[in-house]
Amino acid sequence: MKIDVLTLFPEMFTGVFQSSILGKASDKGLVSFQTVNFRDYAHNKHNTVDDYPYGGGGGMVLKAEPVFLAVEALTAGDGEAPRVILMCPQGETFNQAKAEELAKQERLIFICGHYEGYDERIREHLVTDELSIGDYVLTGGEIPAMAVIDSVVRLLPGVLGNESSAQTDSFSTGLLEYPHYTRPAKFRDWEVPPVLLSGHHSQIEAWRRKQSLYRTFKRRPDLIRPERLNDEERQWLEEWQANEQD
Ligand code: SAM
Repeated sequence: MKIDVLTLFPEMFTGVFQSSILGKASDKGLVSFQTVNFRDYAHNKHNTVDDYPYGGGGGMVLKAEPVFLAVEALTAGDGEAPRVILMCPQGETFNQAKAEELAKQERLIFICGHYEGYDERIREHLVTDELSIGDYVLTGGEIPAMAVIDSVVRLLPGVLGNESSAQTDSFSTGLLEYPHYTRPAKFRDWEVPPVLLSGHHSQIEAWRRKQSLYRTFKRRPDLIRPERLNDEERQWLEEWQANEQD
């Protein structure tokens, strides 16, 4: 996968792209990262990328031209139009399903905003996706882009040492992940659930599935799709719901 990031602050990405899983993925050649300062495409006297809003009001607006020119320079000669993703609090809320969809692409281009907003023609005529990382406003699109890139790259084949760890992550299964324990079996007065020490794989699997469902029921009931559960799981759910009402 090739990932290009258009930003006014390329230095923010240096540590992130070189460290941990992203750094290893890049060293292994599974992903390549490039940052582009779109100020280099502002062909005016002071390389200005923003201007006052038509109609007045506070805040500056990111101009269309430098962003269009930067994307066009990156994609010149490309056969297939890549996904061009605008980081924006007004966009579709990013989630694991979107990460899985983006992980199937060969090329992604991210645009990180700053200032009050974008010239609307960027949205209308340049981007394929608008993504928000949640209902809050950050200063710029860099940190949101890093969050999206990290969650996409860790899904690429070969990136995580243990492939199964991404498959059982919260949200990938449609539920939150089950609780984990590691040694010692007794810490202070708190013991690890005996089933996990039993060596009985099918019982451990069943315990984890039930815990995963229960945790989701308690913390994120909005994620549960009863039609995806088997009869036994639906029965557990009904019992927990009945207990809550008592
Ligand atoms: N005035 C804008 C609005 O109300 O929609 C907010 C602009 S914000 C200060 C500047 C930039 O930060 C945005 O253009 C976007 O790139 C980024 N940004 C801020 N919050 C974000 C979020 N929740 N998700 C994604 N990007 C965000």
